[in-house]
Amino acid sequence: MRSRYSAFVLNHGDYLLASWHPDTRPASLNLDDGGQWLALEVLESDESGESGRVHFRATCKEGNGFAVLEERSRFVREYDRWFYLDGEHTVTPLKPGRNDLCPCGSGRKFKKCCA
Ligand SMILES: [Zn+2]
Repeated sequence: MRSRYSAFVLNHGDYLLASWHPDTRPASLNLDDGGQWLALEVLESDESGESGRVHFRATCKEGNGFAVLEERSRFVREYDRWFYLDGEHTVTPLKPGRNDLCPCGSGRKFKKCCA
């Protein structure tokens, strides 16, 4: 299931659609509209039988700001493959302090980087 999120970050739309359950899969995905994905953190994942859950947080850059997408996703396993079913997500604007590490992942302080 983690591979799906790596694909999300890298904008590999084809892989995303292929791993999306046919019942809920959209006809197409437009990943170009979104911001630039910077970081991905899987907070929790578990599976029981044929169903799985992943709780993750992803940071993205949108224009001059940053936002955090947090989602609890549901997966189902069919024929030994995991498929994304659906998820509930929230998007929160991220306001780093001037002395915090920059969310872009540069390792520099925000005020000396993307501020
Ligand atoms: Zn930066």
